[in-house]
Amino acid sequence: MKYVYLGLRSLRLSGRYLGFVDVRIENIEDRWMKKVLVTGGAGYIGSHIVKALLEAGDEVVTFDNLSEGHRDAVVGGDLVQGDLSDGPLLQSLFSKYEFDAVMHFAANCRVGESVKDPEKYYKNNVCNLLNLLAVMRRHHVNRMIFSSTAAVYGNPVKVPIEELHPLQPINPYGFTKLAVENILRDYSRAYGLISVSLRYFNAAGADPMAQLGESHDPETHLIPRVLAVASGRLAEVEVFGTDYPTEDGTCIRDYIHVNDLALAHLAALKHLRGGGENLIVNLGNSRGYSVKEIIKCAERITQKKIRVVHSSRREGDPPVLVCDNSQARRQLHWQPKISSLDEIIQTSWKWEQNRRY
Ligand code: UDP
Repeated sequence: MKYVYLGLRSLRLSGRYLGFVDVRIENIEDRWMKKVLVTGGAGYIGSHIVKALLEAGDEVVTFDNLSEGHRDAVVGGDLVQGDLSDGPLLQSLFSKYEFDAVMHFAANCRVGESVKDPEKYYKNNVCNLLNLLAVMRRHHVNRMIFSSTAAVYGNPVKVPIEELHPLQPINPYGFTKLAVENILRDYSRAYGLISVSLRYFNAAGADPMAQLGESHDPETHLIPRVLAVASGRLAEVEVFGTDYPTEDGTCIRDYIHVNDLALAHLAALKHLRGGGENLIVNLGNSRGYSVKEIIKCAERITQKKIRVVHSSRREGDPPVLVCDNSQARRQLHWQPKISSLDEIIQTSWKWEQNRRY
């Protein structure tokens, strides 16, 4: 917390001297410097968080190279199109705006692609992060919220997964995210950077107003693919593996609504602004659903029959990924609000029927 100290001032009433008062304006950061830089703010998760920040009264600057993000997904604040590899552009960005925190979403996030092209992932997810941190240091911006992932755990040895679970990624994507968590820890010790790393489980759902939603090209995620079949944009959806050691043989995942992720980011920002310490927490509902359960729920909500093809397992998919979210509840005073699968899929379905991009 910072203060502006205005010094001793005499206090008078109707010209009569009453004494001296010590005048200071408390917490000036909260009053005057609430500009948040959101890298990757035009993407699926980033765009929902930009909207939540604006609704909370923050000033937001989105920085996005629009390689995967959408201009139309940035519903307010300033949008600067650029790449985190562009040092001079970052310099001028930080000179122009006075940021009090950075939320970092700009990264590549396709597991399969990371296996085929690890260089792209290490460059974009790690080297570019180092560029960003260098500029933050130069401009004395020392708060960061980082979008991490359950992929840092690899194949779980114990479910539900707690934050102290062994960190053994099984693909380059997971390794890059873990590398960033480690960099943030080391920068904290050496340079005083304070960060919150949020390990997302399966982000799902859409803005309940359908102003924003998920739109990847290609779309690989289960729920949007299932709903694309329901709306006729796709002919069928593959179920990757029906021989997993789960009740119905399909993989179980912990789906968390994107607006609940947004609330956690606001809570993390409040934590950092309040002088809180480094945190690493899981974000999920602590409840898992199988691929078949997702399809059944989507059929009920859309009132459509969804054509399914059974395929072999997708490489690198653990059978069950469900988190223990008690740390996020405790440390961030956060709890999911759109936690039922029905509600999550309803918001995605509304988006699917009203897609703007
Ligand atoms: N999945 C599937 N068919 C699809 C896409 C995904 O069966 O077309 C399965 C996938 O194998 C995983 C689950 O659905 O078990 C969730 O996958 P998604 O790609 O949505 O998220 P991930 O868990 O990979 O982050």
